[in-house]
Formats: sequence, C-alpha cells, structure tokens
Amino acid sequence: GGFESMDLPPDIFRAIKRKGYRLPTPIQRKAIPVISTGVDVVAMARTGSGKTAAFVVPVLAALQKHSLRNGARALILAPTRELALQTFAVTRDMAKFTDLRLCALVGGDSMEMQFEDLANNPDVIVATPGRVLHHTNEIESFSLRLVEKVVLDEADRLLEMGFQEQLSEIMKKVSQSRQTLLFSATLPSALAEFVKVGLREPRVIRL
Ligand code: AMP
Repeated sequence: GGFESMDLPPDIFRAIKRKGYRLPTPIQRKAIPVISTGVDVVAMARTGSGKTAAFVVPVLAALQKHSLRNGARALILAPTRELALQTFAVTRDMAKFTDLRLCALVGGDSMEMQFEDLANNPDVIVATPGRVLHHTNEIESFSLRLVEKVVLDEADRLLEMGFQEQLSEIMKKVSQSRQTLLFSATLPSALAEFVKVGLREPRVIRL
C-alpha cells in the first residue's frame, strides 16, 4: 500500500506529497500502521532508510487527530545537535499544513530563545537529552507530564554517548501511559535492557 492507504489526516498527507515522497520506504510501510495503533515499537532502521518520516508522520497524525493545546505531547530525542536539527527540519516540513507548534531544544543554541519558544506552548519538542533536562530544571512551569509520545532516535548512539541516566530521568517525567518508539540501527545488550525496563510489550519491526 501507499501513503493514501494509511488513513492519515489530509494536512499531513498533503505535506508528504509536497516533500516529494511518492511511495513509502519499507520501514515507513511497516512502521507507520503499527505506530498508528498506539503500541510501543522497537524499529531496527538505519539512516537513509526513511526512518525519520516513519516516526514523525504517525506521531504528528496522532496529535492532529486529538488537538489539545495545553503542553508538549510529543518528545523526540536524538543523540546529537546535528541529528536533532535534521529531525526538526523534517518534522517542520511534515507539520507545515497543520496548526501544531514545534520547538527544538538543542545544546549550543541560546537558552533565552528556547525559553521564548517554550512559552508558545509547543505540541512537539525535538531535543537532545541534556538540553531538555536543563529546561525542566530551569523553568518551573515547563513540564513533560503531558508527553504521551516519546521517540528515541538512534537509540544505540544515545546509550553509547552516555545518555542512559538522562534518558531514565526523562522517562520518569513523561506520562506513565505514554507510547514509546525506539529507533536504532543495532540492539546491543545495554539497549535491550533499557527496552525491557522502559517499553511496554513493544512490537519489534525489522526490515
Ligand atoms: P532518513 O533515513 O530519515 O534520514 O531519510 C533519508 C532520506 O530519504 C532523506 O533525504 C529523506 O528526505 C528521504 N526520504 C524519506 N522517505 C522518503 C520517501 N518515502 N520517498 C522518497 N524519499 C524519502
């Protein structure tokens, strides 16, 4: 099936077409329908597979279907500033025709500008772990407790880079009934252990 068989909101379908994606890649074809059911997912996918849209599209679609507006409902975490900014750009493109508000929280950018972005009550936050925790500690009113979708992108690298404790801290701050989506090229034992503790009966998707 193509993107039109995925029951996506028209605004997001339109953004996919605008981006020039004609057919879903294999990881998108497998992951989007499963993620859309709301279950936790471990997806084995590497850069270049189209993995970013594989989580961005169903996360935005879920938020768009139940519009709320009182705090961040999705948190996408990436290991590096560069990857987070790339993912942010894809998220912005895919959200272009929706009224969802986005915010990037990465190290190296001004905290002040990020304070302003957060004051706009974004629906989606794309972040590196250190910077998002910095904000939760710095701003009393900024809470992650309404976050119902958490994406860990390049999860193997997140652990390799030593973010395990920060990830655990973040997972304690988000909604306990969250959906967690973990994307990774590899599944080393430390990551398998993290999956056991942090995810609920995940569906594993391999190509
Ligand atoms: P990623 O693996 O998410 O880094 O994506 C790799 C590249 O594939 C990016 O340049 C995307 O814009 C592109 N891409 C992702 N999905 C599709 C698609 N369905 N059709 C064409 N190009 C795509």
